[in-house]
Amino acid sequence: MNTSTTVSDAIAFPRLTVNDLASLKPMGASCSFEDGETIFRVGDAELDLFVVESGAIEILNPSDGNRSVVTHGPGQFAGDIDLLTRRPPIVTAVAHGRTHLLRIPGARLREVLNKLPHLGEMMLIAVQERRRLLTETGAVGMKVVGPGKCRDTMLVREFLFKNFVPFTWYDSASGKGQELMAEWGCPQKSPVIEFGDGRRLINPGLRELAASAGVWRDCPQGPVDLAIIGAGPAGMAAAVYAASEGVSTVVLDRLGPGGQAGGSSKIENFMGFPSGLSGTELATRSVLQMLKFGAKMVAPVIVERIEPALVPEDGHLLHLDCGTELRARTVLIAAGVGWRKIEAEGADRFESAGIHYACTSVEAVLYDSQDVAVVGGGNSAGQAAMFLAECCRTRTVHLLIRGRLGPAMSDYLISRIRATPNILVHEGEAIVSVQGRWRPERVTLQSGQTLPLSAVFVFIGAEPGGAWLPKTIRRDKLGYILTGTDALQSGHWPLKYREPCPLETTVPGILAAGDIRAGSTKRVGFAVGDGSLAVTCVHKLTAIRS
Ligand SMILES: Cc1cc2nc3c(=O)[nH]c(=O)nc-3n(C[C@H](O)[C@H](O)[C@H](O)COP(=O)(O)OP(=O)(O)OC[C@H]3O[C@@H](n4cnc5c(N)ncnc54)[C@H](O)[C@@H]3O)c2cc1C
Repeated sequence: MNTSTTVSDAIAFPRLTVNDLASLKPMGASCSFEDGETIFRVGDAELDLFVVESGAIEILNPSDGNRSVVTHGPGQFAGDIDLLTRRPPIVTAVAHGRTHLLRIPGARLREVLNKLPHLGEMMLIAVQERRRLLTETGAVGMKVVGPGKCRDTMLVREFLFKNFVPFTWYDSASGKGQELMAEWGCPQKSPVIEFGDGRRLINPGLRELAASAGVWRDCPQGPVDLAIIGAGPAGMAAAVYAASEGVSTVVLDRLGPGGQAGGSSKIENFMGFPSGLSGTELATRSVLQMLKFGAKMVAPVIVERIEPALVPEDGHLLHLDCGTELRARTVLIAAGVGWRKIEAEGADRFESAGIHYACTSVEAVLYDSQDVAVVGGGNSAGQAAMFLAECCRTRTVHLLIRGRLGPAMSDYLISRIRATPNILVHEGEAIVSVQGRWRPERVTLQSGQTLPLSAVFVFIGAEPGGAWLPKTIRRDKLGYILTGTDALQSGHWPLKYREPCPLETTVPGILAAGDIRAGSTKRVGFAVGDGSLAVTCVHKLTAIRS
């Protein structure tokens, strides 16, 4: 981070007024530190809000040899988005000169945001901007070393990216990767992850990694008013609305926030963002918003089974893969869909190692200027092709469409693709085999043509993976969940005294929203609308129960 420019950056480092400080004072206590004394340290369990009354706080980056990042003077505060996520800090703070601070317990931060909205808004914007600036330095948070085209390394990178844990990845084949591995005693397995405080993990399971990174705390225990399965746009929207209206809410996701939208490099059709926003931006903002209102996010956790309540007044039981059961008065299934796998000979061998079902910087960075293919004719494929073509003008992006470019893609994307010289559109084509030794080296098309390339990004339609759902939750023949009128007309709605709410499934008290719901439009905006509508249903059901 360039200190001289960022210190003067009023957005990231605002200065609180005397009045602001006076309104914060009753929520905290004053404390003093001597010059050089540590205020908080990377990896500390709980981060409090520190506001400088006099003296200064210097922020050091342990991942970069304790380099000074910024110094907060009187009226400024320390901390970034971890203040809200309640994760351990990724930097260390020391007093610069004798320093007097106002210390507000982290657990009271929500109160600050909600009771003092003007301050809350300023802080929320500042912490996001700080994280952005810090991440831009490329030398912050943990170090991950592992082969780029290896499933375990890919999963670790995807998990950290989805949960916005800052990290720097070094390919183990690169000079820096080899240097780090040698420094760490040449571990036999990879990926190896080193935290800012020096702790190291070798090829950990996701939950172990999540616990060490502070993303995972404990297996949730109920009861809650609303349990949401899936932290994609539908689940997150429901969580924001429900929590803001006082409904105790927990969101569960197998990987982290964002869902499919989190795999989008740029969402351009979501209202309010004329120049588009990335899936990560949408996910980060939504998480901060739901945390601000008191919803709880738990990941990585898989809901393995739902045991519906025997009588509508009872709670439903969710069986979680972390070993507990969570009872919830209302359940919202916002589990989305999964991408259909490509059926080409040899493709399985390279999944996450050259064959990808998402296209974010996590995947794209692996292929420098190499030629790649995108398969699919919808908007997701179009976006991926544009992203890959724009980020490297010297590569060729082969866009392979079984039919024609057009019917399934928005006009704005079609025109851009046609105007981009390094995208080569192959209509009426499909990949029949993928060849290569350790990674894809070439593909053969059904026309017999061979294309030399390094990766294939696949977006060929989705499938609702609802095999884990109880049979009593009725689905259409494609597997999408029936709700509202469809649930009623299926003949499987069990109650005589009332009809289902618009998003209620054939099991009273269990709702479905977003892509997994029959009849929904598979778009971010629609999923968000669906998630919000679900909350109206939650209120209605609560009123019926009482
Ligand atoms: C690459 C890409 C780009 C896209 N771009 C756009 C775009 O520009 N504009 C647009 O409008 N739409 C776009 N879409 C479509 C859009 O992202 C989806 O319509 C939207 O994300 C659906 O939201 P959802 O919440 O219903 O489900 P999802 O986003 O699919 O989220 C479901 C979540 O549920 C979790 N989950 C599933 N099962 C379980 C379980 N048993 N236990 C715990 N968690 C579980 C998953 O991990 C996932 O996070 C894009 C999709 C993709 C893949």
